[in-house]
Amino acid sequence: MPKHKERMLPYGRQDIDQDDARAVLDVLMSDYLTQGPQVPEFETRVKEYVGANHAVATCNATSALHLACRALDLGPGDVLWTSPVSFVASANCARYCGAEVDFVDIDPSTYNFSVDAFGEKLALAATLNRLPKIVVPVHLGGQSCDMLRIRNLAKKYGVKVIEDASHAVGASYKGQKVGSCAYSDITIFSFHPVKIITTGEGGMAITNNKALADKMRLLCSHGIIRNAEQMDVEPHGPWYYQQIDLGYNYRMTDLQAALGRSQMNRLDDFVASRRALAQRYFQLLKGFPVQCPNPDTLEHSSFHLFVIRLGSEFQGNHHRRVFEFLRNNEIGVNLHYIPIHIQPYYRNLGFKPDDFMVSMEYYESAITLPLFPGLTYPEQDKVVEALSGALSLCALP
Ligand SMILES: *Cc1c(COP(=O)(O)O)cnc(C)c1O
Repeated sequence: MPKHKERMLPYGRQDIDQDDARAVLDVLMSDYLTQGPQVPEFETRVKEYVGANHAVATCNATSALHLACRALDLGPGDVLWTSPVSFVASANCARYCGAEVDFVDIDPSTYNFSVDAFGEKLALAATLNRLPKIVVPVHLGGQSCDMLRIRNLAKKYGVKVIEDASHAVGASYKGQKVGSCAYSDITIFSFHPVKIITTGEGGMAITNNKALADKMRLLCSHGIIRNAEQMDVEPHGPWYYQQIDLGYNYRMTDLQAALGRSQMNRLDDFVASRRALAQRYFQLLKGFPVQCPNPDTLEHSSFHLFVIRLGSEFQGNHHRRVFEFLRNNEIGVNLHYIPIHIQPYYRNLGFKPDDFMVSMEYYESAITLPLFPGLTYPEQDKVVEALSGALSLCALP
């Protein structure tokens, strides 16, 4: 029986082995499908891997971003800044809290938000008394932002930092794992199936600050406490609990956490495969009229995405033609991302496309090639062959 219904080669896909399946099945047959021992074990595994003190598992990264914003007291009248070139969740977390969103345009070589632009925008915002409360740097494709410089600027202006490391599980920065929170208040991971490791749906908020961890854990489960010492009255009886804040049900299940624990055993191998395949793309794409990611990132990026950018001979709809040619040839290329500020929801808040020109230029030239641990060399060769065909057919004369 064929493994996939479609023949389209996806840009990313999960890798589940027998150990992963057994781990989930064991939990399925156990006493607890949720709120058992697996979630705390998974949290411990991840926080030890990244070298941080606290980790709160959630049902996805979007909810973890929301919890992080709530823990940092983001609310109406506040502003959160992030990159336009990210998934919408990086910005939406502020809107959930009733706060405003603004963006920092990207760096034309890393596609992460530009630290220079960040510094300039902070200086201007300080004069206008419109400093953000939170900044969310996004490690696009698994390449860490320059967190040291971002942290120093954030400190200078009193801004809190949440790293959206949805792409960067297993990546490192200055000799430490992304997630160590050495330069941030909170780091967010995603365990969606296209990401580096998966729990089906899942996320995690990591921090070195106990008060932030306690707040996120409280809000993750309805804002309910069961510890009598924290209550403002004597418990009415053994059944008693108190809701002390407006929380949510953002919990991860034990089934998911068991999968996550098992996937953690494979994380370093996954990242090594991604880097090896990325290196092979660098070789195979030599001489192509495309800009590859910076090869210096090979040692520390988790290579969630391999984004190429087409040269100026593919302006206008030639970019789209290359993309369509690849899709028509069963290469499941993608585009990460449509800049958030041009989504109708954000346009209705007043953003204009040319507010962030570098992001728009990126959008008009970027294509994400397939890259995931199970990608075979023949499949990768097929991608490169199709790309070669697309580029020669679709360039401006
Ligand atoms: C995937 C992703 C998210 C959201 O993750 P979910 O686990 O699907 O909620 C947030 N930010 C970025 C940058 C992502 O890629």
